[in-house]
Amino acid sequence: MKKISFYASNFLVVMLLVASTIVTGQTKLPNIVILATGGTIAGAGASATGSAYTSGQVKIDAMIDAVPNIRQLANLKGEQVANVGSQDMSVKVWLDVANRINTLLASKDVDGIVITHGTDTQEETAYFLNLVVKSDKPVVLTGSMRPSTALSAEGPLNLYNAVAVAASPKSKGYGVMVAMNDEIHSAHSVKKMMTTPVQTFQSPEEGMIGSVVFGEVDFFHKPHGLHTTSSEFSIDGVKSLPRVDILYACADSSPDLVDLMVKAGAKGIVIAGVGDGNMNAGTLEAVKKATKAGVAVVRASRVPLGAVLIKGEIVDADYGTVSADELNPQKARILLMLSLLKDRSREDLQRVFIEY
Ligand code: GLU
Repeated sequence: MKKISFYASNFLVVMLLVASTIVTGQTKLPNIVILATGGTIAGAGASATGSAYTSGQVKIDAMIDAVPNIRQLANLKGEQVANVGSQDMSVKVWLDVANRINTLLASKDVDGIVITHGTDTQEETAYFLNLVVKSDKPVVLTGSMRPSTALSAEGPLNLYNAVAVAASPKSKGYGVMVAMNDEIHSAHSVKKMMTTPVQTFQSPEEGMIGSVVFGEVDFFHKPHGLHTTSSEFSIDGVKSLPRVDILYACADSSPDLVDLMVKAGAKGIVIAGVGDGNMNAGTLEAVKKATKAGVAVVRASRVPLGAVLIKGEIVDADYGTVSADELNPQKARILLMLSLLKDRSREDLQRVFIEY
């Protein structure tokens, strides 16, 4: 008799829960926080067909309200952390955003993060976060190439899809991602490849890691390189990063640029080298002098694809330099800035560039 009443009462509780779900129409949606930083997705111009506009004009709440059915994907909360064109993104905003994400994702009440961001430096912010976010919950950046006032603005669908990726239980453990134009890219591999077309973000070497089409999320493979919970980098207590400059090599480039960067306070220099991370003889001599003086010099390439060889025309050990492996100069700069938060041997720095 007792047993029957125990099962009956459990059954009653389950039925009441089901009934309340039907009555309120609510299933348990994931909680997603959207951190807005500006960019063209929040941009506005005077004409729907003109190319002139200003980035970072529309606030996050208005952006969310402009996307039909987005609130059916997740419980959304928007926070305006900046409102700039991403050419004005800064280390300070990176640190603020990363700290905010680490705080939010440590809470059991937050399931994922979306960041709206200009596309010019989106791959840099994504890569920075990939190295310092300490969670396997999804962090997804998105943006748009057309401002909100343009004909066929693609921002609303990109935002819808980014929220779908962040809300999907499939998305855990992929590190920081960029979701735009129906594609999901890893922070490590994504590159802005075109100045204005909507298909600007591509991962030409490792390929996109997944797709998201009208909210349907699919993953194809894991991202390349260590990230988030397996990363050794931390910004706990960090208020600024060491200065690292990028030197763009070309025929007959001026060797004294290396000395100028060192004099200006650079603790590290990334060479956007010609070909396989090469530079002319004068620049190479200036680099050797700089590394002897304790400045870290990393050789990347201005060529869009391919890794820089540790033993190629330049043998790194002969000049005290390090190869960026397949990282482009702007991402190599971020990895070098974070690496220089502690003293490292040249060998350890090379390990870092191979692993991340
Ligand atoms: N300069 C703009 C930015 O990065 C344009 C790129 C965009 O958002 O599409 O914010």
